[in-house]
Amino acid sequence: MTAPTAQTYEFRAEIQQLLHILIHALYTDREIFLRELISNASDALNRLRFEQLTNAEVIDPDVELAIRLSFDPDARTLTVTDTGIGMNRDEIVENLGTIAHSGAMAFMKALQERGSQSPTEIIGQFGVGFYSVFMVAEKVEVLSRSFRPNDQAVLWTSSGGTDYTIAPAERAERGTQITIYFKEEAAELLNERTLKRIVTTHSNYVAFPIYLGENIVNAQTALWRRTPREVEAKEYQDFYQQLTFDANPPTLTIHQVADAPVQFYSLLFVPAKLDRGMLAGEGQGKLRLYARKVLIQDHAKELLPEWMRFVEGVIDSEDLPLNISRETVQSNRLMQRLKQTITNRVLSELEALSEKTPERFHTFWSEFGRLLKEGTITDSSNRDRLLPLLRFRTLHHFDQPISLRQYIAEMVADQEHIYYLFGDDPQAILRSPHLDVFRARKVDVLLLTDTMDSFLVNAIGIFEEKKLHNGADADLKLPESAEDDAQSAETLPTEAQESLIERFKRVLGERVQDVRTTDLLRENAVRLVAPDQGFGADMERVYRILDKDFKLPTRILEINPRHALIRNLSAMPNDPLADQVMEQLFEGALLMEGIHPRPVDMLPRLLAIMEAATRRSADSE
Ligand code: ADP
Ligand code: MG
Repeated sequence: MTAPTAQTYEFRAEIQQLLHILIHALYTDREIFLRELISNASDALNRLRFEQLTNAEVIDPDVELAIRLSFDPDARTLTVTDTGIGMNRDEIVENLGTIAHSGAMAFMKALQERGSQSPTEIIGQFGVGFYSVFMVAEKVEVLSRSFRPNDQAVLWTSSGGTDYTIAPAERAERGTQITIYFKEEAAELLNERTLKRIVTTHSNYVAFPIYLGENIVNAQTALWRRTPREVEAKEYQDFYQQLTFDANPPTLTIHQVADAPVQFYSLLFVPAKLDRGMLAGEGQGKLRLYARKVLIQDHAKELLPEWMRFVEGVIDSEDLPLNISRETVQSNRLMQRLKQTITNRVLSELEALSEKTPERFHTFWSEFGRLLKEGTITDSSNRDRLLPLLRFRTLHHFDQPISLRQYIAEMVADQEHIYYLFGDDPQAILRSPHLDVFRARKVDVLLLTDTMDSFLVNAIGIFEEKKLHNGADADLKLPESAEDDAQSAETLPTEAQESLIERFKRVLGERVQDVRTTDLLRENAVRLVAPDQGFGADMERVYRILDKDFKLPTRILEINPRHALIRNLSAMPNDPLADQVMEQLFEGALLMEGIHPRPVDMLPRLLAIMEAATRRSADSE
């Protein structure tokens, strides 16, 4: 097929190396060669459109701007044809043989630095995307005719070795036709279903129609590039489903078109449901990043803070270079601005959701609340905006969580702090002796059960001038309340209190740091408080979960001198049963704090106490 005037040229040395790498490796994602060829075709069509606008002399001015794919499994060929700008002989030599932009060197350098990483991830970024065709091809023919009326058609042929051939050719139509002769092991790609999938996966939103046979296979219109108020809800919905395969309508659809400081289009979604594994950090990077409608990253991770990994969608910017690589995402100022703008917008939408439709926000919170907590802990730059979005189950709002603002609005007179208590589950905290005084004085308490809540209260610290305070604190100073008349109830005389304290100390020995009376208990006889509250105490739960052998610092046992049980104990100075009851009270308090090493050990003693109680009762009958 080569014309008599064909000439053979050597590829430049670095291209030979590049081809060598591509030909001699088997890559699972070799299918991206088609994305590269389509992206080139799309570029060529865009440039043709520009010429048409600025230059009167274009051949075939009325031909459709399109990309066509056709294949022949028997001949093992695929052709990619476009009606774009085309190339003349000089251009084809320059573009496909010389690489004026010397991207091959940079590409191979990057490849070396990345070690074993697949070249397909970065090949499109160095101006060498065309050569990726040699991952599947044993021979490639590029037949091209420039848009300029006087240029002759040209045929470029190469088997990907060290050289290529150029010959004059015949072609009536404007544009480029690339015929790929597939290697045997790549021929499996040559079927309608696979080719269609490759196009819709990688090139669905190319702005020109891509025909596979008679049918257009790409969506073509980039929904996100349209004016938001002109897009119908149904269109967003369909797009969301195509993108995510999620049948539930999204909670939020965020369509943003901006010109400054960075030009971009974005169409983001907050799904209705938490994707399992998302908490564990999987499925991260559900953003597709397009630069000029060409997909350059389909798991862009750096355009949103990590905790926002529930957001899915598309970001497209004219300002980004197509060769943006992972490294430059972090160092690229444009990308940073983009990230900031998009992050702010998602935050604003969440704020609006929480203010305008609290019910819907609660649903969102129950799915994604943990990620917002994670953000509060890890993302200091957005912490101030996250704090009002946090929701907490409280003593007074057990079923419908509330915000810190609402907590503050409902504080009782003279209340200075925001109180919280930890527990293994909400029902268990309700039994906590620490709640006695809060109930009596009608002070609300945040009920915290997540492991990460320990970090959370520490990250919050102070909210709107109110300090977060552990309700199990030994030196709690709560506002007095007229309704709380417990203080007037009958108590033990001081002397009796002192001898009882001595006995507790004797029985418990090293296991407690101190024993003392308290007036903060009501329903409960005893409680344990940590001598040093604050972060250390908050973190004990975490340490204990992480380390089974973690030894807890000893606590202070506080006793309630108005409680019937305590008063009874005081009245049995010589009865060994009192010692056992004291042990049991102490271990019950450990259990209550969630720090009993082995609760089952309490059973034998409990049986002994029950036996003693029943014996007495039986004796007296
Ligand atoms: P890049 O697209 O990043 O420039 P490629 O290796 O993909 O790098 O392509 C090299 C060059 O070859 C392109 O810049 C373009 O000038 C030319 N080219 C490739 N395909 C076509 C095409 N279908 N029509 C016109 N020119 C093309
Ligand atoms: Mg390209």
